[in-house]
Amino acid sequence: MSPLQRKTSEVLWFVLAPALLTLASQYAVAQGPADYDRAVKAAYEKFKNLDEGKNADYIPALAKVDPHLFGIALVTPDGKVYTAGDVTSEVSIQSVSKVFTMARVLQQSGEKAIEDNIGVDATGQVFNSINAIEQFKGKEMNPFVNPGAITTTSMIDGATPDSVWHSIINTLDDFAGRTLTVNQDVYKSESETNQRNQAISMLMFAYERIKANPLQATDLYTRQCSVNVNARDLAMMAATLANGGRNPVTGRQPIDSRHVAPILAVMATAGLYDDSGKWLYATGLPAKSGVGGALIAVSPGKFGIAVVSPPLDAAGNSVRGQRAIADISAALGGNPYSQLPASATAKR
Ligand code: GLN
Repeated sequence: MSPLQRKTSEVLWFVLAPALLTLASQYAVAQGPADYDRAVKAAYEKFKNLDEGKNADYIPALAKVDPHLFGIALVTPDGKVYTAGDVTSEVSIQSVSKVFTMARVLQQSGEKAIEDNIGVDATGQVFNSINAIEQFKGKEMNPFVNPGAITTTSMIDGATPDSVWHSIINTLDDFAGRTLTVNQDVYKSESETNQRNQAISMLMFAYERIKANPLQATDLYTRQCSVNVNARDLAMMAATLANGGRNPVTGRQPIDSRHVAPILAVMATAGLYDDSGKWLYATGLPAKSGVGGALIAVSPGKFGIAVVSPPLDAAGNSVRGQRAIADISAALGGNPYSQLPASATAKR
């Protein structure tokens, strides 16, 4: 080596070494596919025999769903899919659909429309509370309690009920990355027993939050809640939110990236009914549950995850769903609030 060559290589080393070290240290803490796969499978094994909770039965068709059904799926923003258990059997999406009709209205009319007409605060009351409507005069609620959700559905543009429905189902399809269908049994069962939701829609009409046709909005809402999904679909929908609104597999983008954060904010404050605070305290993850046993959660930039398991706890959230997602997210560092100080990060 000539002196000049030696000098050049020394300089190069000085320049490159810190960069290489940083890279190596990042690599040491990065989670690879094997970690993801292990975390998902471990949670499945740990909770598959957990026998707590009970299927929802206020919608008769939900009581008949197999309570042993249990599937977990996790999807990363680069489209990798990790699964355990039954991720192909379908359940009705129920309240998880509220996330995506909110997305549709944000895309169509913007943040202010939701904020002004419905509100974005937790009510502190059950999801189908009529007291909450009276207390807040139809305002200051959020798109995830039934009054807010039925109103959200009523805000979707369309000249006919059919065109509104297409807008709803196309949005759900784009998030899931496949064509979804309505569970006719659930739709019929809920239509026959949804008098309370009809009353809620009439009250929201009386308070001029729903502008027209409240019962039509209730019917479309009931249909949207009856859409069949499996754990894989739900994880893909969650991963679309984790990935700035773009489906990581199909590349389709049903909403602009700027609308994702407001949706995650409402998921954080009101996604798990009365237990939203407890859930956020434990996991830091924006999430949404449905009475059919679905639960989705989003670790922004890292993963979307979903569980299907019908037995619910007293607050109405899937028991296995909460346990499995909390475990997996903890193993993968999914809590967006959890950060080490800068100096500790540098030392790792
Ligand atoms: N369709 C159900 C209802 O309106 C959805 C409720 C839920 O999942 N929390 O009662």
